[in-house]
Amino acid sequence: MKILAVLYSGGKSALAEPRLLSTVENKLGMASWLKSLGHEYIVTDDKEGPNSVFQKELPDADVLITTPFHPAYLTGDLIRQKASKLKLALTAGVGSDHVDLNAANEKKIMVAEVTGSNVTSVAEHVVMDMLNLVRNFVPAHEMAKRGDWDVSAIARNAFDLEGKVIGTLGAGRIGRLVLQRVKPFDPKELLYYDYNPMPADIANALGARHVPDLKEFLGQCDVVTVNAPLHEGTRGLINSELLQHFKKGAWIVNTARGAICDRIAIKEALESGQINGYAGDVWDVQPAPKDHPWRTMQNPLGGGNAMTPHYSGTTLDAQKRYADGTKDILERWFKGEAQEPANVIVEDGQYATRSCGYNSNYRIGCH
Ligand code: NAD
Repeated sequence: MKILAVLYSGGKSALAEPRLLSTVENKLGMASWLKSLGHEYIVTDDKEGPNSVFQKELPDADVLITTPFHPAYLTGDLIRQKASKLKLALTAGVGSDHVDLNAANEKKIMVAEVTGSNVTSVAEHVVMDMLNLVRNFVPAHEMAKRGDWDVSAIARNAFDLEGKVIGTLGAGRIGRLVLQRVKPFDPKELLYYDYNPMPADIANALGARHVPDLKEFLGQCDVVTVNAPLHEGTRGLINSELLQHFKKGAWIVNTARGAICDRIAIKEALESGQINGYAGDVWDVQPAPKDHPWRTMQNPLGGGNAMTPHYSGTTLDAQKRYADGTKDILERWFKGEAQEPANVIVEDGQYATRSCGYNSNYRIGCH
């Protein structure tokens, strides 16, 4: 079989650190294993445009592996016009929105990912981002580096997480882990919004209240963390109209997908003070253009931005887990064995997950 992997280039870091598995250099740690099985394994980071290695190799590929950190965008056009042999699109990580899932269904391509592999890594990052914004960390650190000392300039926009209303938009694996992790900070209340409400015993254990109306949910939260997948129902969801329904001065942490938030609307809401901060690691598109407004946007007091490149789910611990999971999915695929149900996003022309919107064609018993 021909297996095509689009990974990010790790350069000197990847040569010095072999645990950077999801790099072009270290090839998810699978090169010799795949070779020993007689498969052709092509690894590249070159993914944009018709002359890219990705698009040139796609027509012969049986399997495409990519990561959300440097995604090969498998659009409907590519699936219909170029990916004629493709049978499996495998995400080394979590979140397969870089694949046009409807087109994959149409062509009966299986889409699988390593569900759960990096959810703890992301949840920790979310807590860090919340504290970063609420405590006004970035301007304070920049001041220290500059050699200045003006405590009031920082403290005038620094708060405690304790006593705040914290809500997650999307309460699946990551959303729940975030709620669990912020509970010891003694928030005023923990809220969530999700069209798949949690079982009562889990919600009670987390101390989280479901608010079934999105605008009412947003209007109550001091901090909103976004943990829903990107799909037709969430693309551009947080736009200038919806931002008016946030509590004035709220903080937003989005480690889900950049395209859930309208990039200009976020910048304008931050600059006007409608929101006090925005943080996360996901961008629309990736790599983010140098002039992407989220790199430099600020609130009126010169803070409120804790954006980073997309790395929350690609810590060295996470890379080991999703590289192992990718190998497991491939092993089952080669042997014709069933996949772990939680790892399957679409199969046999049907959605196997309830997480990707209000699709009606769920398989019975899907996760
Ligand atoms: P999950 O499937 O366990 O949970 C997602 C939840 O979102 C589900 O409960 C689903 O019902 C809910 N949801 C879907 N659409 C919604 C909507 N319109 N409104 C409210 N809720 C909605 O997924 P997960 O493991 O928690 O991951 C969530 C997302 O986080 C992934 O899809 C991915 O995009 C992102 N992610 C990012 C990174 C990173 O490195 N930044 C890593 C892993 C995952």
